[in-house]
Amino acid sequence: MRQKNMLIPTLRHVGAEAEMASHRLMLRAGMIRQLAAGVYTYLPLAYRTLRKVEQVVREEMDRIGAQELLLPAMNPAELWKESGRWETYGPELVKLQDRHEREFLLGPTHEEVITDLVRNEVNSYKKLPMALYQIQTKFRDERRPRSGLLRGREFLMKDAYSFHADQETLDETYQDMYEAYRRIFTRLGLDFRAVEADSGAIGGSENHEFMVLSESGEDTLALCGSCDYAANIETAEVGALTEAAAPTATDVPGVEKVSTPRASTIDEVTRMLGKKPEELVKSLLFTVDGEPVLVLVRGDHEANEVKVKHVLDAEQCELADDDTVRRVTGSPAGFAGPVGLKQPVKVVADHAVKGMREAVVGANEADAHLVHVRPARDFQVDLYADVRTAQEGDACPRCGGTLRFSRGIEVGHVFKLGTRYSEAMNATFLDREGKERPYIMGCYGIGISRVVAAIVEQCHDENGIIWPSGAAPYQVHLIAVNPKDPDQSRLAEELYAQLTADGIEVLFDDRQERAGVKFKDADLLGIPLRITVGKMASDGRVEYKFRRSGKSGDLSAEELPLKLP
Ligand code: ATP
Ligand code: MG
Ligand code: MG
Ligand code: MG
Repeated sequence: MRQKNMLIPTLRHVGAEAEMASHRLMLRAGMIRQLAAGVYTYLPLAYRTLRKVEQVVREEMDRIGAQELLLPAMNPAELWKESGRWETYGPELVKLQDRHEREFLLGPTHEEVITDLVRNEVNSYKKLPMALYQIQTKFRDERRPRSGLLRGREFLMKDAYSFHADQETLDETYQDMYEAYRRIFTRLGLDFRAVEADSGAIGGSENHEFMVLSESGEDTLALCGSCDYAANIETAEVGALTEAAAPTATDVPGVEKVSTPRASTIDEVTRMLGKKPEELVKSLLFTVDGEPVLVLVRGDHEANEVKVKHVLDAEQCELADDDTVRRVTGSPAGFAGPVGLKQPVKVVADHAVKGMREAVVGANEADAHLVHVRPARDFQVDLYADVRTAQEGDACPRCGGTLRFSRGIEVGHVFKLGTRYSEAMNATFLDREGKERPYIMGCYGIGISRVVAAIVEQCHDENGIIWPSGAAPYQVHLIAVNPKDPDQSRLAEELYAQLTADGIEVLFDDRQERAGVKFKDADLLGIPLRITVGKMASDGRVEYKFRRSGKSGDLSAEELPLKLP
């Protein structure tokens, strides 16, 4: 493609609000522009890279026999009411109404829609297992969408779902997906780890996150120096947990609603309900210097605030006048320093949920709690971590080696869902004996647009992006230093024609710009191999330079195709 006519509006500077390297560099390289917070336009270069990433993902999904389809982004509320998530998903859910005032949402993920499709179209064990996937725009009204493509409110995801008659085939598909993910991120040149992510209340089901190692990541990983043990030490967000509190669980047999006067302390509530404090789901348990600090919260999660009703060890909590926990002094295990609970709220893990068969939760109405509630059956806890899991320097739980901490960006997530959705939505098949049974399910996501940004986070220097060739928008950046010079122009045109005919993706800088500008732009855009047609053109020679290694030299134009990566 000829650069003269291309839409690549490079910038020398961008505003200070772009904090992440990927955000800054992609703006500067003329790859993305923000339309609204967390909503971006992909300009031609970014779109090429996005499609490269998509293609790698698609090939690896197809290779393990997953079938591609495309589900609607606009989902009727009814389906999400069936699963319970219309109420529980929380403020990230983008809801809307049509002209008849029917309720809809823009899908942040598609378990409901795919489960609905499969329950209608697949009724026999003979069709199972089946894995389906799509590459589609997702919508999540994220609280702080300030990191460019790393956290969009509209973003591109590959989401796959598998349906099974038995646990064994789920285990197999999960393993296939896990390996496909490893191949995908390896092909894209990323330094990543697959880490164990504790699923707590999901019922002991297995899940792994794929993390790109990067200082700018939001997650903290515990990595063993001696074996391949790797785990995420973080966290459910407060929002996720609270929005998850049983919405309509009273129509489940055994669940009871109990009225509890508003001003109760944790002791009073638990005594009244005949439960132990740990069984309260909306409680936070930190371990500070080996001592538990239990905080019962009255959460106002819209306002992103956590208010305390009762603290077991008040000395370790610094409270504001309005009872808001300002910070927990000391260092709750697993966190680097004192934790401020008001902002950001990322610190929360509900220790009490782990392994718990029944819990006490808020009834989503004033002055009432629900008892005999089963986590995962009656409400969803998306992510869960035990805050005591690890501290830097701890012994590795697998081999006894030493754990070190590292930061990571979550680019993929594979999850054994079990029957969470099929049971809630009455999605069944007929087994070999002709008996109706709920599908056993798995789900598998990759943030395609986040992957693009994660690559830039990992692959850049002070001059710009350094694309790994698997994700580069073009493989060769051909620069005619002075297109007005007849020798240079002729040789550059010849090379452009020849390389293009050989199927090599070439960006041809044929602009009338100073050489310095062209080279600066070339470093910024980060295409793997630069070929410069300059003064030596009259001898039929060109210069080459690899963006990553900086290795450079000159050679005769005839030798060129042999030197390509
Ligand atoms: P995070 O913890 O970063 O909020 P998540 O756990 O909510 O991500 P999943 O529900 O597991 O995300 O979605 C699957 C994948 O989609 C994630 O692994 C990530 O790569 C990507 N993803 C999630 N949220 C966003 C977002 N706001 N912008 C871009 N990619 C995202
Ligand atoms: Mg999220
Ligand atoms: Mg996550
Ligand atoms: Mg996730």
